[in-house]
Amino acid sequence: MSSNESSNSSNADDANDANANGTTNGTTNGTNDGTTATPGFATRTIHAGQEFDPRTGAIIPPIYQTSTFVQDGVGGLRGGYEYSRSANPTRSSLETQLAALEGGAHGLSFASGLAAEDTLIRAIVQPGDHIVLGNDAYGGTYRLINRVHGKQGVENTTVEMSDLDAVRAAIIPGRTKILWVETPSNPLMKISDIAALAEIGHAAGVTVVVDNTFASPALQNPLALGADVVVHSTTKYLGGHSDVLGGALVLNDEDLAAEIGFLQFAVGPVSAPLDAWLTTRGIKTLAVRMRQHSENAQAIAEYLEQHPAIERVFYPGLPSHPDHELAKRQMSGFGGMLSVALKAGREAALQFVESTELFSLAESLGGVESLIGYPSEMTHASVKGTALAVPENVVRLSVGIEDVADLIADLDAALAKLDAPAV
Ligand SMILES: *Cc1c(COP(=O)(O)O)cnc(C)c1O
Repeated sequence: MSSNESSNSSNADDANDANANGTTNGTTNGTNDGTTATPGFATRTIHAGQEFDPRTGAIIPPIYQTSTFVQDGVGGLRGGYEYSRSANPTRSSLETQLAALEGGAHGLSFASGLAAEDTLIRAIVQPGDHIVLGNDAYGGTYRLINRVHGKQGVENTTVEMSDLDAVRAAIIPGRTKILWVETPSNPLMKISDIAALAEIGHAAGVTVVVDNTFASPALQNPLALGADVVVHSTTKYLGGHSDVLGGALVLNDEDLAAEIGFLQFAVGPVSAPLDAWLTTRGIKTLAVRMRQHSENAQAIAEYLEQHPAIERVFYPGLPSHPDHELAKRQMSGFGGMLSVALKAGREAALQFVESTELFSLAESLGGVESLIGYPSEMTHASVKGTALAVPENVVRLSVGIEDVADLIADLDAALAKLDAPAV
């Protein structure tokens, strides 16, 4: 017995190490017990929730393309799986990975970013409650809150999120249940102070939600700055390859996570197995992609800032950006999104977006390929004529990870066409 104990002790240590590396602190309870260092971000993207298949040794966990699970007698579930609306192993693997990326206890995956947002809102608000959101929130978020939840008797107020007094004034004590923050914002790349807003929200008993889609967890971790819930459209940087829709919620609160999990089961807005798998695959290169997106966007922002056709560049990595210092404080990089205002106005902006070749004219963002868009009639068409409308001379770029010299040459050629004198 005693010889067994001693010969097993080194195996037990190995098992503990493997366990600590396989699950990460972030996936279980977000705390570090002080004995095991939390693996670095890139390590978590690749390993959290990604244990190899114990039956075959396949290094990539299989896609569980199944709706139901055979039971060993009534209620005899293997690994807790019963029916894929409540849980599916491929989705579980992604959910573990998502939690680890944001350093939260609970990750939940959805069919789209808006499905995640809708589920979160349902879990928190009742008719008569109130939501405060930024006056430059993603158009689809505003539409969801204003037109879908508005119909259910949920009211909202849009505010300038950088004006902390305006945020305090917009909160209705007892009725406001959510403070919805998006930073950097879309498309004007305004930066909001997450830590300050979390303090304001918590003083009023409000759940502070941060849409972290633009920064991605590689560059910004809202939970660590005091936010209660992180929202992602994983369609963008997390998926990263413009081939799958998805959404995510990451949070620490046990009760709220249970209510969201109940709604996943009761309503069914969950990600399908293949979609979950594609998202997991994309996430594994997030760290290196975000470094390149940021490097390319910085070079393009600097190029555009000195171009005579450009009135203004909106990119938090430029010292001229009004929130540059705040961005440096709460982000570890500035990301791949930027917008420009053209001096010559609406027509020039429309001509510019239709003149590039490497930058494809399309909605969405966050993929490896570069996109260009005209927000006021594309991504932000739903807020045209409202307080959230985008200026008509603004063009948005989602800078990809192609060779930056080629990207700059493409923009340069398109802008040169604008400069051509009328014949
Ligand atoms: C795209 C996007 C959403 C919505 O996500 P979908 O996956 O399209 O439903 C929400 N917030 C931001 C910032 C987005 O860019």
